[in-house]
Amino acid sequence: MHILFACPHHDPDAWVPLLQAAMPGCRISVWNPEGPPSGAQAALVWRPPAELFAHETGLHTLFNLGAGVDALLKMPEIPPHVRIVRLEDAGMAVQMAEYALYALLRVARDFEAFDQAQARQHWDTRDGTRQADWPVGVLGLGQVGARVAAVLADFGYPVAGWARTPREIPGVEVYAGREALPDFLARTRFLINVLPLTPDTQDILNRDTLSRLLPGAHLVNVGRGEHLVEEDLVAMLEEGEIAGATLDVFRTEPLPADHPFWRDPRVHVTPHIAARTLRDESIAQIAGKVAALMRGEAITGVVERGRGY
Ligand code: NDP
Repeated sequence: MHILFACPHHDPDAWVPLLQAAMPGCRISVWNPEGPPSGAQAALVWRPPAELFAHETGLHTLFNLGAGVDALLKMPEIPPHVRIVRLEDAGMAVQMAEYALYALLRVARDFEAFDQAQARQHWDTRDGTRQADWPVGVLGLGQVGARVAAVLADFGYPVAGWARTPREIPGVEVYAGREALPDFLARTRFLINVLPLTPDTQDILNRDTLSRLLPGAHLVNVGRGEHLVEEDLVAMLEEGEIAGATLDVFRTEPLPADHPFWRDPRVHVTPHIAARTLRDESIAQIAGKVAALMRGEAITGVVERGRGY
Protein backbone atom coordinates (compact mmCIF):
# COMPACT_ATOMS: atom_id res chain seq x y z
CA MET A 1 0.00 0.00 0.00
CA HIS A 2 1.23 3.53 -0.76
CA ILE A 3 0.45 5.85 2.15
CA LEU A 4 0.73 9.63 2.05
CA PHE A 5 1.63 11.73 5.06
CA ALA A 6 -0.63 14.79 4.75
CA CYS A 7 -0.52 16.56 8.12
CA PRO A 8 0.60 20.17 7.55
CA HIS A 9 0.87 20.79 11.31
CA HIS A 10 3.17 17.83 12.03
CA ASP A 11 6.88 17.63 11.15
CA PRO A 12 7.23 14.90 8.48
CA ASP A 13 10.87 14.27 9.45
CA ALA A 14 9.69 13.25 12.92
CA TRP A 15 6.95 10.94 11.60
CA VAL A 16 7.83 9.44 8.22
CA PRO A 17 10.93 7.40 9.24
CA LEU A 18 8.98 5.90 12.15
CA LEU A 19 5.99 5.16 9.91
CA GLN A 20 8.24 3.52 7.33
CA ALA A 21 9.93 1.40 10.03
CA ALA A 22 6.53 0.29 11.37
CA MET A 23 5.19 -0.54 7.89
CA PRO A 24 8.15 -1.95 5.92
CA GLY A 25 5.79 -3.47 3.35
CA CYS A 26 4.31 -0.06 2.47
CA ARG A 27 5.61 2.98 0.67
CA ILE A 28 5.30 6.10 2.83
CA SER A 29 5.70 9.51 1.21
CA VAL A 30 4.95 13.12 2.07
CA TRP A 31 2.16 14.72 0.07
CA ASN A 32 3.55 17.21 -2.44
CA PRO A 33 0.84 19.55 -3.74
CA GLU A 34 3.25 20.90 -6.38
CA GLY A 35 4.05 17.49 -7.90
CA PRO A 36 1.97 15.06 -9.93
CA PRO A 37 -0.58 12.89 -8.08
CA SER A 38 1.24 10.15 -6.18
CA GLY A 39 -1.29 7.40 -6.80
CA ALA A 40 -1.41 6.64 -3.04
CA GLN A 41 -4.32 4.58 -1.75
CA ALA A 42 -4.28 5.85 1.86
CA ALA A 43 -3.30 8.97 3.74
CA LEU A 44 -2.50 9.93 7.31
CA VAL A 45 -4.29 13.21 7.93
CA TRP A 46 -4.80 15.86 10.57
CA ARG A 47 -6.49 19.06 9.39
CA PRO A 48 -5.64 18.28 5.76
CA PRO A 49 -5.91 20.97 3.09
CA ALA A 50 -9.03 20.62 0.94
CA GLU A 51 -6.86 20.42 -2.23
CA LEU A 52 -5.53 17.03 -1.14
CA PHE A 53 -8.69 15.27 -2.30
CA ALA A 54 -8.90 16.80 -5.77
CA HIS A 55 -5.18 16.10 -6.27
CA GLU A 56 -5.01 12.54 -4.87
CA THR A 57 -8.06 10.89 -6.39
CA GLY A 58 -6.81 7.34 -5.70
CA LEU A 59 -7.27 7.65 -1.94
CA HIS A 60 -9.69 5.14 -0.46
CA THR A 61 -8.71 5.30 3.24
CA LEU A 62 -7.87 8.20 5.58
CA PHE A 63 -6.22 7.55 8.93
CA ASN A 64 -7.07 10.51 11.15
CA LEU A 65 -4.36 11.37 13.68
CA GLY A 66 -6.92 12.05 16.38
CA ALA A 67 -10.06 10.62 17.97
CA GLY A 68 -12.44 13.36 16.84
CA VAL A 69 -13.44 13.46 13.17
CA ASP A 70 -15.85 16.41 13.25
CA ALA A 71 -13.50 18.63 11.22
CA LEU A 72 -13.02 15.95 8.53
CA LEU A 73 -16.74 15.30 8.26
CA LYS A 74 -17.30 19.00 7.55
CA MET A 75 -15.12 18.76 4.42
CA PRO A 76 -17.33 18.27 1.35
CA GLU A 77 -14.15 17.64 -0.68
CA ILE A 78 -13.76 14.15 0.81
CA PRO A 79 -15.58 11.79 -1.57
CA PRO A 80 -18.28 9.60 0.04
CA HIS A 81 -16.51 6.33 -0.86
CA VAL A 82 -13.40 7.26 1.14
CA ARG A 83 -13.20 5.33 4.42
CA ILE A 84 -12.27 7.43 7.48
CA VAL A 85 -10.48 5.64 10.30
CA ARG A 86 -9.94 7.42 13.62
CA LEU A 87 -7.58 6.78 16.52
CA GLU A 88 -9.08 4.57 19.20
CA ASP A 89 -7.64 5.48 22.59
CA ALA A 90 -3.96 5.16 21.49
CA GLY A 91 -2.89 6.51 24.89
CA MET A 92 -5.46 9.31 25.01
CA ALA A 93 -7.96 7.70 27.40
CA VAL A 94 -5.56 7.54 30.34
CA GLN A 95 -4.51 11.16 29.77
CA MET A 96 -8.15 12.18 29.81
CA ALA A 97 -8.73 10.20 33.01
CA GLU A 98 -5.79 12.05 34.59
CA TYR A 99 -7.23 15.40 33.50
CA ALA A 100 -10.70 14.59 34.83
CA LEU A 101 -9.34 13.25 38.12
CA TYR A 102 -7.19 16.35 38.61
CA ALA A 103 -10.14 18.66 37.95
CA LEU A 104 -12.40 16.65 40.25
CA LEU A 105 -9.97 16.42 43.17
CA ARG A 106 -9.10 20.11 42.99
CA VAL A 107 -12.76 21.02 43.35
CA ALA A 108 -14.14 18.20 45.50
CA ARG A 109 -11.25 18.24 48.02
CA ASP A 110 -11.21 22.08 48.33
CA PHE A 111 -7.57 22.30 47.19
CA GLU A 112 -8.12 25.78 45.78
CA ALA A 113 -9.29 27.01 49.17
CA PHE A 114 -6.13 25.58 50.76
CA ASP A 115 -3.97 27.37 48.16
CA GLN A 116 -5.73 30.62 49.06
CA ALA A 117 -5.31 29.90 52.77
CA GLN A 118 -1.58 29.33 52.29
CA ALA A 119 -1.29 32.69 50.55
CA ARG A 120 -2.69 34.22 53.77
CA GLN A 121 -0.54 31.92 55.99
CA HIS A 122 -3.81 30.68 57.42
CA TRP A 123 -4.09 27.17 58.93
CA ASP A 124 -7.52 26.39 57.47
CA THR A 125 -9.13 23.54 59.43
CA ARG A 126 -12.32 23.46 57.43
CA ASP A 127 -14.55 20.37 57.55
CA GLY A 128 -13.60 17.49 55.27
CA THR A 129 -15.54 16.79 52.09
CA ARG A 130 -17.49 13.63 51.19
CA GLN A 131 -17.27 11.79 47.87
CA ALA A 132 -21.03 11.22 48.13
CA ASP A 133 -21.51 14.99 47.74
CA TRP A 134 -19.87 14.89 44.30
CA PRO A 135 -21.86 12.62 41.97
CA VAL A 136 -19.93 12.55 38.69
CA GLY A 137 -21.61 12.30 35.29
CA VAL A 138 -19.70 11.48 32.10
CA LEU A 139 -21.30 12.41 28.77
CA GLY A 140 -20.01 9.89 26.21
CA LEU A 141 -18.90 6.37 27.12
CA GLY A 142 -16.68 5.52 24.17
CA GLN A 143 -12.96 4.75 24.10
CA VAL A 144 -12.20 7.82 26.21
CA GLY A 145 -15.34 8.39 28.30
CA ALA A 146 -15.61 4.78 29.49
CA ARG A 147 -12.05 4.95 30.85
CA VAL A 148 -12.71 8.28 32.56
CA ALA A 149 -15.87 6.92 34.19
CA ALA A 150 -14.19 3.68 35.31
CA VAL A 151 -11.20 5.49 36.85
CA LEU A 152 -13.35 7.95 38.82
CA ALA A 153 -15.65 5.13 39.98
CA ASP A 154 -12.57 3.21 41.11
CA PHE A 155 -11.64 6.19 43.30
CA GLY A 156 -14.98 5.77 45.04
CA TYR A 157 -17.02 8.62 43.55
CA PRO A 158 -20.63 7.90 42.55
CA VAL A 159 -20.33 7.83 38.75
CA ALA A 160 -22.93 7.70 36.00
CA GLY A 161 -22.42 7.86 32.25
CA TRP A 162 -24.56 8.71 29.27
CA ALA A 163 -24.30 7.21 25.79
CA ARG A 164 -26.54 6.59 22.80
CA THR A 165 -26.78 2.86 23.46
CA PRO A 166 -26.80 0.84 26.73
CA ARG A 167 -23.75 -1.07 27.97
CA GLU A 168 -22.32 -2.31 31.28
CA ILE A 169 -19.34 -0.69 32.98
CA PRO A 170 -18.58 -1.99 36.49
CA GLY A 171 -19.29 0.67 39.12
CA VAL A 172 -20.91 3.04 36.62
CA GLU A 173 -24.65 3.69 36.32
CA VAL A 174 -25.36 3.91 32.61
CA TYR A 175 -28.08 6.11 31.08
CA ALA A 176 -28.78 5.66 27.37
CA GLY A 177 -30.60 7.78 24.82
CA ARG A 178 -31.92 11.32 24.71
CA GLU A 179 -34.92 10.51 26.90
CA ALA A 180 -32.59 9.47 29.75
CA LEU A 181 -30.58 12.71 29.65
CA PRO A 182 -32.72 14.75 32.13
CA ASP A 183 -32.50 12.02 34.81
CA PHE A 184 -28.75 11.67 34.25
CA LEU A 185 -28.25 15.43 34.65
CA ALA A 186 -30.52 15.64 37.71
CA ARG A 187 -28.24 13.26 39.70
CA THR A 188 -24.96 14.89 38.53
CA ARG A 189 -22.92 17.62 40.23
CA PHE A 190 -19.59 17.19 38.42
CA LEU A 191 -20.31 16.94 34.69
CA ILE A 192 -17.58 15.83 32.25
CA ASN A 193 -18.26 16.08 28.52
CA VAL A 194 -16.37 13.59 26.32
CA LEU A 195 -18.87 13.36 23.48
CA PRO A 196 -17.89 13.56 19.82
CA LEU A 197 -19.15 16.66 18.03
CA THR A 198 -22.06 15.69 15.77
CA PRO A 199 -25.27 17.41 14.62
CA ASP A 200 -26.98 15.65 17.58
CA THR A 201 -24.49 16.81 20.21
CA GLN A 202 -23.67 20.36 19.05
CA ASP A 203 -24.73 22.94 21.70
CA ILE A 204 -25.73 20.15 24.11
CA LEU A 205 -24.22 22.08 27.06
CA ASN A 206 -26.67 24.97 27.26
CA ARG A 207 -28.83 26.78 29.81
CA ASP A 208 -31.56 24.15 29.63
CA THR A 209 -29.28 21.13 30.22
CA LEU A 210 -26.87 22.81 32.67
CA SER A 211 -29.74 24.13 34.81
CA ARG A 212 -30.80 20.51 35.48
CA LEU A 213 -27.56 19.71 37.33
CA LEU A 214 -27.39 19.51 41.14
CA PRO A 215 -26.67 22.78 42.98
CA GLY A 216 -23.00 23.82 43.12
CA ALA A 217 -22.26 22.08 39.82
CA HIS A 218 -18.90 22.10 38.04
CA LEU A 219 -18.56 21.55 34.28
CA VAL A 220 -15.56 19.95 32.56
CA ASN A 221 -15.55 20.22 28.77
CA VAL A 222 -12.93 18.12 27.00
CA GLY A 223 -15.09 17.19 24.00
CA ARG A 224 -15.27 20.06 21.53
CA GLY A 225 -15.88 23.79 21.92
CA GLU A 226 -19.09 23.63 19.87
CA HIS A 227 -20.70 21.42 22.51
CA LEU A 228 -20.95 24.41 24.85
CA VAL A 229 -23.08 27.52 24.40
CA GLU A 230 -20.43 29.75 25.96
CA GLU A 231 -22.72 32.75 26.59
CA ASP A 232 -25.03 30.50 28.62
CA LEU A 233 -22.16 29.35 30.84
CA VAL A 234 -20.86 32.90 31.31
CA ALA A 235 -24.33 34.02 32.44
CA MET A 236 -24.90 30.98 34.69
CA LEU A 237 -21.53 31.52 36.43
CA GLU A 238 -22.50 35.14 37.07
CA GLU A 239 -25.88 34.09 38.44
CA GLY A 240 -24.31 31.41 40.67
CA GLU A 241 -26.24 28.66 38.87
CA ILE A 242 -22.96 26.92 37.98
CA ALA A 243 -20.14 27.07 40.52
CA GLY A 244 -17.18 26.60 38.18
CA ALA A 245 -15.82 25.10 35.00
CA THR A 246 -12.66 23.44 33.69
CA LEU A 247 -12.47 23.96 29.96
CA ASP A 248 -9.97 22.48 27.49
CA VAL A 249 -11.81 23.18 24.22
CA PHE A 250 -13.45 26.35 22.90
CA ARG A 251 -15.57 27.54 20.01
CA THR A 252 -12.59 29.65 18.86
CA GLU A 253 -9.10 28.28 19.48
CA PRO A 254 -6.80 29.82 20.58
CA LEU A 255 -9.25 31.40 23.02
CA PRO A 256 -9.49 35.10 22.04
CA ALA A 257 -7.67 37.51 24.38
CA ASP A 258 -10.87 39.35 25.30
CA HIS A 259 -12.87 36.21 26.17
CA PRO A 260 -14.40 36.38 29.67
CA PHE A 261 -13.23 32.82 30.47
CA TRP A 262 -9.61 34.06 30.71
CA ARG A 263 -10.39 36.37 33.62
CA ASP A 264 -13.07 34.48 35.57
CA PRO A 265 -11.47 32.87 38.67
CA ARG A 266 -14.20 30.22 38.63
CA VAL A 267 -13.05 29.04 35.19
CA HIS A 268 -9.90 27.00 34.58
CA VAL A 269 -8.64 27.18 31.01
CA THR A 270 -6.25 24.73 29.34
CA PRO A 271 -5.23 25.01 25.66
CA HIS A 272 -6.71 21.79 24.17
CA ILE A 273 -4.11 19.56 25.84
CA ALA A 274 -6.34 17.23 27.86
CA ALA A 275 -5.24 14.24 25.78
CA ARG A 276 -2.52 14.66 23.20
CA THR A 277 -1.94 12.40 20.22
CA LEU A 278 1.02 10.19 21.16
CA ARG A 279 3.25 9.46 18.18
CA ASP A 280 4.50 5.96 18.98
CA GLU A 281 1.10 4.66 20.12
CA SER A 282 -0.64 6.21 17.09
CA ILE A 283 1.86 4.77 14.62
CA ALA A 284 1.62 1.31 16.21
CA GLN A 285 -2.19 1.39 16.00
CA ILE A 286 -2.26 2.58 12.38
CA ALA A 287 0.40 0.05 11.34
CA GLY A 288 -1.71 -2.73 12.89
CA LYS A 289 -4.76 -1.59 10.95
CA VAL A 290 -2.85 -1.27 7.68
CA ALA A 291 -1.51 -4.82 8.12
CA ALA A 292 -5.05 -6.09 8.78
CA LEU A 293 -6.38 -4.32 5.67
CA MET A 294 -3.57 -5.78 3.57
CA ARG A 295 -4.56 -9.26 4.82
CA GLY A 296 -8.14 -8.49 3.77
CA GLU A 297 -9.43 -8.33 7.34
CA ALA A 298 -11.94 -5.90 8.84
CA ILE A 299 -10.70 -3.16 11.15
CA THR A 300 -12.29 -1.19 13.99
CA GLY A 301 -12.41 2.59 14.30
CA VAL A 302 -14.08 3.13 10.93
CA VAL A 303 -16.24 6.24 11.19
CA GLU A 304 -19.94 5.91 10.41
CA ARG A 305 -20.47 9.11 8.49
CA GLY A 306 -24.26 9.02 8.89
CA ARG A 307 -24.08 9.22 12.68
CA GLY A 308 -21.10 11.61 12.70
CA TYR A 309 -18.58 9.59 14.74
P1 NDP B 1 -16.03 7.27 20.73
O1 NDP B 1 -16.60 7.33 19.37
O2 NDP B 1 -15.27 6.05 21.15
O3 NDP B 1 -17.20 7.46 21.80
C1 NDP B 1 -18.22 8.38 21.64
C2 NDP B 1 -19.26 8.18 22.75
O4 NDP B 1 -20.23 9.22 22.65
C3 NDP B 1 -19.99 6.84 22.63
O5 NDP B 1 -20.21 6.31 23.90
C4 NDP B 1 -21.31 7.26 22.00
O6 NDP B 1 -22.40 6.42 22.31
C5 NDP B 1 -21.52 8.62 22.61
N1 NDP B 1 -22.43 9.43 21.78
C6 NDP B 1 -22.24 9.89 20.52
N2 NDP B 1 -23.33 10.56 20.09
C7 NDP B 1 -24.22 10.52 21.11
C8 NDP B 1 -25.52 11.02 21.29
N3 NDP B 1 -26.16 11.70 20.32
N4 NDP B 1 -26.15 10.78 22.46
C9 NDP B 1 -25.54 10.08 23.46
N5 NDP B 1 -24.29 9.58 23.34
C10 NDP B 1 -23.64 9.80 22.19
O7 NDP B 1 -15.13 8.57 20.91
P2 NDP B 1 -13.86 8.79 21.87
O8 NDP B 1 -14.25 8.38 23.24
O9 NDP B 1 -12.65 8.20 21.27
O10 NDP B 1 -13.69 10.39 21.78
C11 NDP B 1 -14.76 11.24 22.11
C12 NDP B 1 -14.41 12.68 21.78
O11 NDP B 1 -13.47 13.20 22.70
C13 NDP B 1 -13.75 12.90 20.42
O12 NDP B 1 -14.68 12.89 19.39
C14 NDP B 1 -13.12 14.25 20.61
O13 NDP B 1 -14.04 15.27 20.24
C15 NDP B 1 -12.85 14.32 22.10
N6 NDP B 1 -11.41 14.30 22.38
C16 NDP B 1 -10.83 15.43 22.90
C17 NDP B 1 -9.48 15.45 23.18
C18 NDP B 1 -8.85 16.63 23.86
O14 NDP B 1 -7.62 16.68 24.00
N7 NDP B 1 -9.60 17.61 24.34
C19 NDP B 1 -8.62 14.28 22.89
C20 NDP B 1 -9.36 13.13 22.43
C21 NDP B 1 -10.69 13.15 22.17
P3 NDP B 1 -22.46 4.88 21.82
O15 NDP B 1 -21.33 4.21 22.58
O16 NDP B 1 -23.79 4.42 22.26
O17 NDP B 1 -22.23 4.89 20.34
